[in-house]
Amino acid sequence: MKHVIQVQNLTKRYGKLTAVDHINFEVERGEIFGFLGPNGAGKTTTLRMLTGIIQPDEGVANILGFNIQKEPLKAKQNIGVVPETSNAYVDLSAWQNMMLMSELYGIPRKKAEERAKSLLERLNLYHRKDDKVKGFSKGMKQRLILCMALVNDPILVFLDEPTSGLDVASRQLIREILQKFPDQGKTIFLTTHNMNEANHLCDRVAIINQGKIAAIDRPEKLKKTVKKLKSVEVSFDRTVDIQSLSEISHIKELKKKEINS
Ligand code: ATP
Repeated sequence: MKHVIQVQNLTKRYGKLTAVDHINFEVERGEIFGFLGPNGAGKTTTLRMLTGIIQPDEGVANILGFNIQKEPLKAKQNIGVVPETSNAYVDLSAWQNMMLMSELYGIPRKKAEERAKSLLERLNLYHRKDDKVKGFSKGMKQRLILCMALVNDPILVFLDEPTSGLDVASRQLIREILQKFPDQGKTIFLTTHNMNEANHLCDRVAIINQGKIAAIDRPEKLKKTVKKLKSVEVSFDRTVDIQSLSEISHIKELKKKEINS
């Protein structure tokens, strides 16, 4: 299976708003695929549809060869999800959260303990394993939910803004771990609004805006396109003939913006 994610015409509406608008893309095995866009672009809604949390209104998403709507359990068996907000139980310790997650996946106790130890060590949390999550910093919580998402040794990992709002050390640690995933045969789908992160971390990036995919390419190619296209907003203190502005060199497109006073 070359494509671990295949998306066709995926669409989600909330009342009159089309949050995700007929998007199409594929993610190859071993890729770090970024979903880049501003706030409200439709990133989380897409990720929720891909992980079977919400149902699309139109379109299909195949995850590891299974239709996520029709065969959610098969699709979910080999995926890990790091949601936007922490799913760890704050009244339990880091270790208890790891054991609980392992039980949900039916991982035998001994195996679960080995994996939990190794993951907590890699994410520099083992020394705090018996502390309640309540007392953890945001960066520690984020590192723990990454450990929890990896407890079933998933082939495909979804991460929603994994480094947003974190301290530099946690951000760096998470990025280092993610960068090693392709060598371990894992594929990553991550959302971000940080262009720098997408540039440094991702093999390919889809840019999403107002529910539509504007471009999909390697970050270096996208950067070249963005450099060529710049938009400038200007205002005048009198009425001007907009057509006369098109004679200025290098202007490719002109749009008149209506101002409601
Ligand atoms: P952010 O970076 O802020 O998390 P995002 O790109 O993840 O943004 P989404 O959370 O997917 O954006 O939201 C896309 C649009 O859908 C927004 O306009 C949002 O207000 C709307 N939306 C999302 N979830 C719901 C919901 N449950 N009910 C109504 N509208 C929603």
